[in-house]
Amino acid sequence: MIFGGMGQPIGFLGGAMDSLMIKMFGILNERASIAEFTNLGFLFDSEYLRVHGWGMIDLRVFPAGYIQTNAFLLSNLERKESILIDAPHFVWDEVEPVLKELGCELKALLLTHGHYDHMGGASRIQKLGCSTYGHRDDQLFYETPEVMRPYVYPPDMTLEPVMIDHWLEQDDTIELLGETIEIRHVPGHCPGNILFYFAVHEAAFVGDALFAGSIGRTDLKGGDFPTLEKSIREQIYTLDPKTNVFPGHGPQTTVGQEIETNPFVPGRKA
Ligand SMILES: [Zn+2]
Ligand SMILES: [Zn+2]
Repeated sequence: MIFGGMGQPIGFLGGAMDSLMIKMFGILNERASIAEFTNLGFLFDSEYLRVHGWGMIDLRVFPAGYIQTNAFLLSNLERKESILIDAPHFVWDEVEPVLKELGCELKALLLTHGHYDHMGGASRIQKLGCSTYGHRDDQLFYETPEVMRPYVYPPDMTLEPVMIDHWLEQDDTIELLGETIEIRHVPGHCPGNILFYFAVHEAAFVGDALFAGSIGRTDLKGGDFPTLEKSIREQIYTLDPKTNVFPGHGPQTTVGQEIETNPFVPGRKA
């Protein structure tokens, strides 16, 4: 694992003999502590990816925006197609040169939920002709992001609406990059949080429902702890324990790790 300086790729994992390339871009701003920055180095487990094989899928994370929200760029290098999961403010400045480097076209923007830190950069990307996907229960946030103004920092940030092209629901599946992606609805942090589950790769991109050792806050508009707890137990803890969980903030974890150790939604009875 390789660590770089500020604004540099902080990790490059993957063998020359295979197609796996994972770059991690860390942008340190005044709101990210050194500890958080360092943690990003552990975001991906290269052994896991080698064992299970993402084939021609290149996976990169961009922690971006005002509060270091993880955006994930997945690219099929054979098809020359990419999708982006979540769009923090300014993420396009980071993603565009990588797409050029890979020679891939961005085919879809999948949004885990409608909070400003996950969709602040979405309208800019949509204007380039990219289709957007999200859950209708967050329609208010997507189309009227001003309702979150009391919660945003810095308070004068630009909040641009995004009009979702494809509404997704529980148990929907979508086909992108030649992959099948299963949709699970995990409300509680907000009404319309969904996760994107890649069964073949045992990977779930969960937004702000669950973090490594923590859970999404439930004190924001539309948040509710019992709902979130139910979502985590029924939609995330029911996945295979080996499943890698990629949260909207901070490092990756696994379903098994959270079942065993998560202090907010314990998976085991004491
Ligand atoms: Zn959120
Ligand atoms: Zn967030």
